[in-house]
Amino acid sequence: MAQAEATITDEFNAFTVAQRQFDIAADHLGLEDGLRLVLRTTKREFTTHFPVQMDNGDVEVFTGYRVQHDLGRGPAKGGIRYHPDVTLDEVKALAMWMTWKCAVVRLPYGGAKGGVVCDPKGMSLAELEKLTRRFTTELAPMIGPDSDIPAPDVNTNSQTMAWIMDTYSMHHGYSIPSVVTGKPVNVGGSEGRVEATGRGVVFTIESAAREIELDLADATVVVQGFGNAGSVAATLLRRDYKCRILAVSDTSGAIYSSAGIDPAQAVAYKRQNGALAGMPGTEPLTNEELLALPCDILIPAALENQILASNADRIQARIIAEAANGPTTPEADQILYENGQMLIPDILANAGGVTVSYFEWVQDKQAFFWKEAEINEKLRLIMTSSFAEVLAMAKQEHVDMRTAAYLIAVSRVADATRVRGIYP
Ligand code: NAD
Repeated sequence: MAQAEATITDEFNAFTVAQRQFDIAADHLGLEDGLRLVLRTTKREFTTHFPVQMDNGDVEVFTGYRVQHDLGRGPAKGGIRYHPDVTLDEVKALAMWMTWKCAVVRLPYGGAKGGVVCDPKGMSLAELEKLTRRFTTELAPMIGPDSDIPAPDVNTNSQTMAWIMDTYSMHHGYSIPSVVTGKPVNVGGSEGRVEATGRGVVFTIESAAREIELDLADATVVVQGFGNAGSVAATLLRRDYKCRILAVSDTSGAIYSSAGIDPAQAVAYKRQNGALAGMPGTEPLTNEELLALPCDILIPAALENQILASNADRIQARIIAEAANGPTTPEADQILYENGQMLIPDILANAGGVTVSYFEWVQDKQAFFWKEAEINEKLRLIMTSSFAEVLAMAKQEHVDMRTAAYLIAVSRVADATRVRGIYP
């Protein structure tokens, strides 16, 4: 238990939260002690401090991490995040969540995650390219198409992935597109990958709405975090299901309109102005007000630790769909469950991203590419069947949806570990 004890500092430490979520499932499953130790511990943690020459000629040293949690079911898979608040414990938590996520949707992957402590908003494109290429070089012994495959996350995108692919390929002397997913389509990316996380969230919301008999036409939606995951979910819910998007937010603040916000207009406004705040026809809100708005569906799509014991009681949504990783603490989970709200946990709700990343990796390895309609249909099948499995488990075991998803995921990873055995 040495690793676990050393990292427990407070209730909002993401790795502590991840371990507590795991413990709830391990207790429920009666998991044997040795296996419990293996699975609640990360396998590899890599830290690098690397220099980048900035545009003004100064040299800055950045810190980056890559953590692999478990490789029992296949190569490690997980995104790379650029953010000033990245910590090793956050990356460890995100890596562990990736293991469970891949297991819930039956992808043949283990979990990993990476991050660089930086403020990308204050950096030029040239500086971001240098940082990415140097970080990739530092990671080179660890990543690879059969060992560990990065993808986009907060503040990284298809351009970042193209730089990673190019840098890794330059080191080998030929193109290796399958080393990374979320690339632009013209260099081996997959159709549908940019929208995959938000689209997957929407498929799980559709299943949840059917279960609680909520009519999605004119259902009200609130989205915290209007980035890749959040803006796509809002756009599809409006366009395909006629939901009313009451409020959305980004780091500049939240905006509200009782008549409904057009997500396409919000995307265009944010692109032009760099922020949502001040969009004509909307009123400003605080983050706390946004979370407490009366609505049918709340989508946390920003960062960890947003729904807590201190504010969970104020949340009124009937469905909470976690597009973000780790937005809800275990205490808040309990409150929402007791209040009869349906929470679709991150390891299920946002698994669409890694699912289409898996499709991209398969296409790259075969050098044979699929049409977007085929990809979206395969994604729908995986998301809806995984949701149904988790819901059935929740009903059977009388537990909340997160615990149900963990019971399924931890069992699958534990089975793989048992059958492979402990080497040597
Ligand atoms: P992104 O960088 O595209 O967007 C993040 C958004 O959140 C931005 O609009 C930012 O302004 C906003 N934000 C940040 N802090 C905020 C705060 N305190 N309040 C309100 N808004 C805030 O990132 P993304 O890829 O959409 O990732 C968002 C979440 O979804 C993360 O938790 C990420 O791990 C998770 N996720 C992403 C993917 C993916 O494929 N991109 C897949 C699975 C899970």
